Amino acid sequence: MALRTIDSLGDLAGRTVLVRCDLNVPLDGARITDDGRVRASEPTLERLVGAGARVVVVSHLGRPKGAPDPRYSLEPVAARLGELLDAPVAFAPDTVGDAARERAAALGDGEVLVLENLRFDPGETADDAGPRRDFAQRLVDVTGATAFVSDGFGVVHREQASVFELARLLPSAAGGLIADELGVLERLTTDPARPYTVVLGGSKVSDKLGVIAHLLPQVDSLLVGGGMLFTFLAAQGHDVASSLLERDQLDTVRGYLDEARERGVDLVLPTDVVVASGFAADAEHEVVAADAIGASRFGADGIGLDIGPETSERFASIIRSSSTVFWNGPMGVFEFPAFAEGTRAVARALTEVDGLGVVGGGDSAAAVRGLGFDDAEFGHISTGGGASLEFLEGERLPGLEVLGWQ
Ligand code: ADP
Ligand code: MG
Repeated sequence: MALRTIDSLGDLAGRTVLVRCDLNVPLDGARITDDGRVRASEPTLERLVGAGARVVVVSHLGRPKGAPDPRYSLEPVAARLGELLDAPVAFAPDTVGDAARERAAALGDGEVLVLENLRFDPGETADDAGPRRDFAQRLVDVTGATAFVSDGFGVVHREQASVFELARLLPSAAGGLIADELGVLERLTTDPARPYTVVLGGSKVSDKLGVIAHLLPQVDSLLVGGGMLFTFLAAQGHDVASSLLERDQLDTVRGYLDEARERGVDLVLPTDVVVASGFAADAEHEVVAADAIGASRFGADGIGLDIGPETSERFASIIRSSSTVFWNGPMGVFEFPAFAEGTRAVARALTEVDGLGVVGGGDSAAAVRGLGFDDAEFGHISTGGGASLEFLEGERLPGLEVLGWQ
C-alpha cells in the first residue's frame, strides 16, 4: 500500500493540523549554519497554509536529555521559518504547557505556530510505549489538532511519540517531503541505472555496516573514505597510527572484503591519505601512501583526516562515469578547510554525474553547502541520513508503515 497523502485528510480549512517536520539544523549559538531542512519543510507548510489550516509545527533539535536546554531551543528556527514563509510564525516556549495551549487556540486560519523542541520532554523518545503515547495524546489535547501530517523524513526510522504515536491517534498522512524522498530512494533500490556506485564516509563504521552488507550484492562499485576507511585499512593489516579505528569491527570488515571479492564488486579503498599531527584545524600534515600511515613524520601520533589527492582523483573518475550514485558521509574532517579537499572532489564529481546523484546525511549535506555548492547542482539532497541508510538497508521504517507504506 502506498503512503496516505494530504488529500486523504479532506478539507483542512479552519482545522488545526499538527505537522511533524525535521527542523534539526546545525546551530552556532543561535545562528543557523545550514537551513536546508527548514527550506525542505517549506512546501508542505505552504500547502497547508494555502488550504486554510491552523498549522502547529513540531520538531526536535539536537540531543537534549529530556529536559529544557536553551542551547537546543527551536526559537531561532521558528524565526527563520517566518522569513522563508514571508509570514508571521508564532512560537510557544513549551510543548504541552500553557503557552502551547494558548497560542494554538489563538491561531487563525492559515496561520503557523512552532512549539518548542519535542525532546525537552522525556516522553518523545521514551523507551516504553506508554509514556510516548501519553506525550502524543497531550500534544493532541493541548493543540486541539484533528489531523496529523508527518513530514520529517529524517526521523521516520524512529518509533518516537511525534513520529509514530501521533500518526495513530489522529487521521494522518505523509507530507510532500517524505513522498519526494521516497520517490528518489526507490530509484536507488528498484532497478537502478548502471553503473551504480555507492560512496561511504563519515565517522563511524558501525553506523554504516548494515548498509554495506545490504548494498554489496546490488552495487557495481563501493568507495570507502572518511573515518571508516582506517578500519578497512587495519583489516588489511596496515598500521593506521592514531587514526579513527573501530577494533571490534575488524572481523566484520574482513568479511566484507572477502564478500566483495567473491561477488566481483569493486570495493575501492584509498591509496593515499592526508595524515596530520593531531585533530586540529591548523595541524601540520602530509600526504602518505595508505599502507604507510605509520611511517609518516608524525609516527604513532599521526592521524588520518582526509583521503589523498590520488584517491580523490580515482573516486571522482569512478563517480563521473556512473549512472547512479548514492553518497553518504564526508571523505574527511571537512569542518577544517585543510582537510576538506577529498569531500570537495567527491561533491564536484557528483554534480557531473550523467544520471542520478544523491547526497544523503546531515553532515554530508551541510558539507556540500558549506563548500559552496548549490543544492540544484545535485540530483537530490536527502534530509535524512540515518533514515535513507535504513531504507537502503531494507529495514522496515515504523514512521512510514504507520502512514500506510508497505
Ligand atoms: P552524515 O551526517 O552525512 O551521515 P556522519 O555523521 O557519518 O555523516 O559523519 C560526519 C563526520 O565524520 C564529520 O563531522 C567529519 O568530520 C567526520 N569525519 C570524516 N572523516 C574523518 C576522519 N578521517 N577522522 C575523523 N572524523 C572524520
Ligand atoms: Mg552526521
